[in-house]
Amino acid sequence: MKTKIKHETPLMKTNLRKGDFVRVISGRDTGKEGKILQVLRDRNRVFVEQINLIKKHTKPSPKNQKGGIVEREGVLQISNVMMLCRKCDKPSRVGAKLLPDGKKIRICRRCGDLL
Ligand SMILES: [Zn+2]
Repeated sequence: MKTKIKHETPLMKTNLRKGDFVRVISGRDTGKEGKILQVLRDRNRVFVEQINLIKKHTKPSPKNQKGGIVEREGVLQISNVMMLCRKCDKPSRVGAKLLPDGKKIRICRRCGDLL
């Protein structure tokens, strides 16, 4: 019997963090922009505010007595979003730079400015 090998997408090293402002560059919400709510580093996914909204049916609970439909953010592939550099005003790749004192900073690969 053959064993099926599950191919997982290799983990992308990402310099994106919670709170970063990104633009969606692929998929249903292409061109939209929002703030990163959560980064799921081990799954290559991010949640972005008001992007990729999905409707979820909820059952009545003590907090929400009626239940019903709520909208919440769905996960996005990290590769589908790009950091927005405020200086270039364009989606840019994020570079990392090590300072002489050992501190790591993030820079825009386009203009070299601090992100
Ligand atoms: Zn820039």
